[in-house]
Amino acid sequence: MTARVIDGKQTAADVIETVKAATADLVSGKATVPGIAVVIVGEDPASQVYVRSKGRKAEECGFHSETYTLPDDTSEADLLAKVEELNADSRIHGILVQLPLPGHIDEGKVIQTIAPEKDVDGFHFLNVGKLGTGETADAFIPCTPAGSMVLIRRALETDDFSGLNAVVVGRSNIVGKPMANLLLAANATVTVSHSRTKDLPGLCRTADILIAAVGRPEMIKGDWVKPGACVIDVGINRIDAPEKGEGKTRLVGDVDYAGAAEFAGSITPVPGGVGPMTIAMLMANTLASACRAAGVEPPKY
Ligand code: NAD
Repeated sequence: MTARVIDGKQTAADVIETVKAATADLVSGKATVPGIAVVIVGEDPASQVYVRSKGRKAEECGFHSETYTLPDDTSEADLLAKVEELNADSRIHGILVQLPLPGHIDEGKVIQTIAPEKDVDGFHFLNVGKLGTGETADAFIPCTPAGSMVLIRRALETDDFSGLNAVVVGRSNIVGKPMANLLLAANATVTVSHSRTKDLPGLCRTADILIAAVGRPEMIKGDWVKPGACVIDVGINRIDAPEKGEGKTRLVGDVDYAGAAEFAGSITPVPGGVGPMTIAMLMANTLASACRAAGVEPPKY
């Protein structure tokens, strides 16, 4: 079997088109202009790239977008004050504090200070709790698992995973755990595995839906994949690529793509799979926040 490639770039572009259209409706109806604020502390080049691309995408969607670049030695109190100021700003519907933060700042404290109704990353305890209890109608779902769900629903052409076994490899708070909750809410039978799991290959072979969120390059091999499974590779790992020349690198996922594509029914590539969905869902969450503030039903994806 050769797997169907799940095109995350195209799906993300579809999501963005929907966000743009709904934003245009909100703006033309004079309901509101969706607003996002991104706060970054320090000069980490990778974080700067992420923040710039979020700002560009927000503008493409027609949002009001603000970026605050604070110096590396910003105190925790000053950052918390900035978050409070944005909490109180009615033009801002989504607040995103780029992680990681410098070591002298308590990340947890900052995340829990963001108003839950503006927490478009979905990391506030209230949003985590709503997802855990299935109260998802007005919750923010973390963007990477939310985007992965869109890809699975489209690949399987259903939003009801009754009777399907899902195995999530990885139990992080930002990917593995929310992913498991979303799959459970869609009626899948879910197993969460991690670094202490025994016989991971055997467990993965039971999965109709296999999610890899580990951070280990190409760890999941082709013969771990059940024939016909839907494989979602969340991993983004940079490895040396001497074949491209000295000092060159390339991105790979947590799944051995070539091997897994021989067994899977459908599979996400890296890059071009889950990655583009994350930023698209951030825009979708910000739009949803603006819609809720305006009393309008947000679009579904
Ligand atoms: P994390 O380091 O917080 O968690 C990794 C998880 O993998 C842990 O729960 C750990 O128990 C498990 N694990 C580690 N070694 C294992 C092993 N040998 N066998 C089984 N499980 C093992 O990572 P994370 O933040 O969840 O991210 C996971 C991957 O996803 C990374 O490659 C990251 O770059 C990527 N990621 C991608 C996006 C995106 O937008 N596509 C977003 C977030 C994270």
